[in-house]
Amino acid sequence: MAKEILGHITCPHCKSDEATVHQAAGRNKAFYYRCYSDATGGCGTIQISLAAGQKFIKENMRPLNKIEVKQAAEVAANDASISQVKAAKKVVGAENTDNQTSFFAKFFEDEDK
Ligand SMILES: [Zn+2]
Repeated sequence: MAKEILGHITCPHCKSDEATVHQAAGRNKAFYYRCYSDATGGCGTIQISLAAGQKFIKENMRPLNKIEVKQAAEVAANDASISQVKAAKKVVGAENTDNQTSFFAKFFEDEDK
């Protein structure tokens, strides 16, 4: 599952400005960044969890602007939607899902008459 994007940071290794800042879910809640730039190939997930590393991220992080917040929310919503559909299909069995939908659709159509 994708972690929420808190902001962007210029990657100190490859100078990509597309690295994304995230917060660890664990006990320390440390900030880390992910550098997966299409242009450079990226550096990977970089965790610098001690004081100087955290200071570096806080001082260099650029918070998302309004448009980026909206885009990140849309990506998160789409991911959630995909995993919800997958989970539902797993329970019912992928082949039966369509039949069941049309069965219920017919049921409600008849009720209107
Ligand atoms: Zn990088």
